[in-house]
Amino acid sequence: MANISVLGLGAMGQALAARFLQQGHSVTLWNRTPGKAGSLVAKGARECSSAADAVVSSDVTVICVLDYAASNSVLDGAASALAGRAVVNLTNGTPAQARAVAERVASLSAAYLDGGIMATPPMIGSDHALILYSGSKATFDAHVRTLEALGAATYLGADAGLASLHDLALLSGMYGLFAGFFHASALVDSEGIRASEFLKLLGPWMTAMMGELPGYAEKIDSGRHGVNVVSNLAMQTASLQNILTATREQGVATYLLDPMLELFRKRDGAGHGNEDISGVFELIRLKSRGG
Ligand code: NDP
Repeated sequence: MANISVLGLGAMGQALAARFLQQGHSVTLWNRTPGKAGSLVAKGARECSSAADAVVSSDVTVICVLDYAASNSVLDGAASALAGRAVVNLTNGTPAQARAVAERVASLSAAYLDGGIMATPPMIGSDHALILYSGSKATFDAHVRTLEALGAATYLGADAGLASLHDLALLSGMYGLFAGFFHASALVDSEGIRASEFLKLLGPWMTAMMGELPGYAEKIDSGRHGVNVVSNLAMQTASLQNILTATREQGVATYLLDPMLELFRKRDGAGHGNEDISGVFELIRLKSRGG
């Protein structure tokens, strides 16, 4: 069993600490505002009055606070105790923030593993929880069995920013899906059709469309968007235009789909109308890699 410190006892920090306790680990806690450790202390955790005290109690320190400004402030308080220890930061942030903290922690002679939690607090410890990690491989390897109790643990590489990059990319896919659902629901709502009723049609349709993704992924990876003889970009630009015209006619706002039509038109206008719609990727990708 491991000695683990959890710094940050918001909804997520509490769920992480509770799961570690449930697994029989020795758990030490600290939170900026005292008084949040009660139920965990009742289950055997020990509460410290400073972050530095909590860090020296453990082999590994898990930080999970609101954002990177907060985790930097937690590290300020713990800095004197960090040398020779391992920090696992499960706070949500950007790749650049993770890399900056990794440098800072390394300068304090500690190991750093960054993490992105793909789960809500009640999901922690369930089969549906996934946590992405990047940074110190030695830390991941040393603690992977402990960390796997929180959720499936996937290590993405030594660059500390990779967990955050993948986390935010996964969430981007999710928000794109939600945006499509919200727009579609607003369209049918304009005729009094309830979203829950419409979902009976939309759900299977979206699931079927998931089948298009492997083909798009291949085209994106190769940079060749082919000649699409079935449903090319020019046809789909006209179709998307129809959707937006109908949206206006129904009195519904077009915010969510306007950018997509702009990209379709731009790519079509540049002579790629006979290709696949995956070509819009070329308009948004990093220019230094995409040319
Ligand atoms: P909460 O809002 O419930 O808790 C925030 C925590 O951050 C509290 O412990 C708070 O301390 C602490 N905090 C805020 N500012 C500071 C600061 N300046 N210095 C020290 N501590 C500070 O958030 P969650 O626990 O839900 O989220 C924590 C992290 O987990 C976030 O990065 C979030 O994005 C991520 N996450 C959350 C998910 C969720 O569904 N909840 C899902 C996936 C990731 P205090 O009590 O003193 O205010």
